[in-house]
Amino acid sequence: MTTSVKSSDPQTSGARLEIERVRRDFPILHQTVNGRPLVYLDNAATGQKPQCVIDTIQRYYETDNANIHRGVHELSVRATDAYERARAKVQRFIGAGRSEEIVFVRSATEAVNLVAQTFGRQRIEAGHNEIVISEMEHHSNIVPWDLLCKQTGAKLLVAPINDQGELLLDDYKNLLSPRTAMVAIGHVSNALGTINPVRDIIEAAHQHDIPVLLDGAQAAPHLKIDVRELDCDFYAISSHKLFGPTGVGVLYGKYDFLNQMPPYQGGGEMIKSVHFDKITYNDVPFKFEAGTPNIAGAIGLGAAVDYVNDLGLDNIAAYEHELLGYATEALSSIPQLRLIGTAREKAAVLSFVFGDIHPHDMGTILNQEGIAVRTGHHCAQPVMDHFDIPATTRASLAFYNTKEEIDALVAGLHKVTEVFA
Ligand code: PMP
Repeated sequence: MTTSVKSSDPQTSGARLEIERVRRDFPILHQTVNGRPLVYLDNAATGQKPQCVIDTIQRYYETDNANIHRGVHELSVRATDAYERARAKVQRFIGAGRSEEIVFVRSATEAVNLVAQTFGRQRIEAGHNEIVISEMEHHSNIVPWDLLCKQTGAKLLVAPINDQGELLLDDYKNLLSPRTAMVAIGHVSNALGTINPVRDIIEAAHQHDIPVLLDGAQAAPHLKIDVRELDCDFYAISSHKLFGPTGVGVLYGKYDFLNQMPPYQGGGEMIKSVHFDKITYNDVPFKFEAGTPNIAGAIGLGAAVDYVNDLGLDNIAAYEHELLGYATEALSSIPQLRLIGTAREKAAVLSFVFGDIHPHDMGTILNQEGIAVRTGHHCAQPVMDHFDIPATTRASLAFYNTKEEIDALVAGLHKVTEVFA
């Protein structure tokens, strides 16, 4: 590990991270874009990778690369050990009880699709015919359920949000009934930043014996997750938002549920034996890892988990909370700027509209200043429908961002005003 980034002085600027040292761990941050220092504020789309993650992946390919679980030779043993160690790291990171509950998948998107097509389908076949989601979901926690509904005749019910972007908890509870097959809700909204009251959401569902999937794609990089304390039944994570590589993600599932679910995809690894008269499936989690997995990706994710643990999620959350407060105040002081998503419990995401300037024009001008923000519907079109807007500009922060970068964003927004004056 190349990092030691906790400040010895807990008084340092309200946060126990030494930001300049943290930033040195991220080589990509040290470049100019259009002649300006890069200001990377698109962390909800993907996080940047610390040197230790990059080194781990490179070292794996340089010294250990082999296929896993099937070789007796040295490289295969090393690769298998590293892959399984990564699984154990993820298990501890999210507080899962056993490593078999951690399934490596391609992404949070694949995790949701897997649960929909196996567990969700089983629940519908057992006579429950409604799926409950919320109005603030990312498309990857809408479309897999919609597909399942179209395939089975089940109904998708949508819990509404208010104009701050908060879930209306009573309306959500009113949707729950013996008909409900599943609840699938985001832990943190990518478009609004809202942190959902997931304990209440899960408790209310469990009172009706309804299993709950949490889409944790935006939560895992910012909040301490404890799946056992939450008592969620499934939890979906994408490595790339957690400062690991792309192409790998995690599905956590309670062991008994994973055990009773049919496989999602067929192929090597997920079987114990194949004969034309009988095929037997492997044990969990391998039953859900058909084919050669993203070995380097999982090992890289393990390194990212080590890195984040070293910083400490409590320190990360405290620092980002401070940044969010600073940014909210700074953006609120800009005339014509309207924040979309003002929930009381919020992660460091600032979505906004700016007079009648189209977000794509804003993004283009900010890019001229070296500032990377996202513009568009953020794969959450129902959120845009709620606020009756086509798109927003979104600045999403991570622990390596600084107040100076927020100041640069504010200066960039003043520039936009001048261009459109
Ligand atoms: N859920 C949320 C809340 C997200 O923000 C995203 C990514 N923007 C996803 C799911 C899907 O993640 P991925 O594209 O990595 O599968």
